[in-house]
Amino acid sequence: SLKLDVAAIRNQFPALDQTIQGKPLVYLDNAATTQKPECVIEAVSAFYRHDNANIHRGVHTLSARATDQYEAAREQVRQSLNASATEEIVFVRGTTEAINLVASSFGQTLKAGDEIIISALEHHANIVPWQLLKQRISITLKIIPVTPEGELDLGALPALITERSRLIAVNHVSNALGTINPVAQIAAIAKAHGVPILIDGAQGLPHGPVDVRAIDCDFYTLSGHKTFAPSGVGVLYARRPWLDELPPYQGGGDMIETVSFEAVRYAPPPAKFEAGTPNIEGAIGLNAALQWHAALDWPAIKAHEAALLAHATTALEAIAGLRIVGTAKNKVPVLSFIIEGAHPHDIGMLLDAQGIAVRTGQHCAMPVLQFLGAPQGTVRASFAFYNTLDEVDALVRAVHRAQHMLS
Ligand code: PMP
Repeated sequence: SLKLDVAAIRNQFPALDQTIQGKPLVYLDNAATTQKPECVIEAVSAFYRHDNANIHRGVHTLSARATDQYEAAREQVRQSLNASATEEIVFVRGTTEAINLVASSFGQTLKAGDEIIISALEHHANIVPWQLLKQRISITLKIIPVTPEGELDLGALPALITERSRLIAVNHVSNALGTINPVAQIAAIAKAHGVPILIDGAQGLPHGPVDVRAIDCDFYTLSGHKTFAPSGVGVLYARRPWLDELPPYQGGGDMIETVSFEAVRYAPPPAKFEAGTPNIEGAIGLNAALQWHAALDWPAIKAHEAALLAHATTALEAIAGLRIVGTAKNKVPVLSFIIEGAHPHDIGMLLDAQGIAVRTGQHCAMPVLQFLGAPQGTVRASFAFYNTLDEVDALVRAVHRAQHMLS
């Protein structure tokens, strides 16, 4: 693999080519959502122009075409995650719905006093569904601690596992700090203790291929919009035995075999977990995004992302009064930082005035930011591989200027 042709990649993203307040857009909010390549925009548009119909129900040609495309998307997700069967791929709205599905459905198999283990590094999407379950049936939540660098303290994990442990649920990559967690290692610990494991993969696939069988996890979640696909579509991967065993999440059309007022027979998975009309065009866009993603030169991308991270880290650290929050050894190019005497929100506004899109605040991960001494949150610059080293320099110049204006 040679050097990544970033210009050629950028050319495929129409939204990147614009000015904001007279300055070229520097889009550094990729952990919130990524921009979409032409092939995704085109796939969604082509569906609406030619094939739009509801799926699984119609005998007519358009419905058959829509169904075929929807199911082709499921097969592409299977390939992209290296799952063993398409039945293991459940389409949902995104990671939030995927985890709520597990908390609700798997939650029905739990009793008061059963234990769920999460970590201090989680997004609220992997905290609040478990707290709701705790309020409903008095499960116990246990928390894997984080180190001051923002890494999981895995040495503390075995002692948290007891005979009441029912699930370990952790993220693959932290959206707030960029930490890449050793999920295969955590899954191995879980397996050694006979505890199933869920991986919140919202930030995983955007930065490289994922293999759920190599990780050896029971559940894995995706959000399409963070992986160059439309919003409102995501995936819950679950090992087949779970999908057979677990009760349905929502009831409605398309998830049943037979219905009378006395009894219901559910359809087999994945239909059992997909009540109602799904985000058909979203799944079709996801298919396009994942095919495109699979064809990328990943060794070259990883080298480029490492260069973005290294350059941004060095240049930001050189700014007086700036502290990078989250300095894990293994990171994706996410730079979360605070500046002495400046509120993250004010920095964010001053960066936007210079064309630079970042996110400010708590990044839906309040516990870890509190713990790491950033109670007002951080400024987060999150890079994708379509970002350039010049954009790192633009960020650094703009932060200097913002800092100067606020002092
Ligand atoms: N987990 C992580 C690690 C995330 O980054 C996000 C999105 N910020 C979510 C869960 C929730 O994803 P969504 O909003 O797409 O449901």
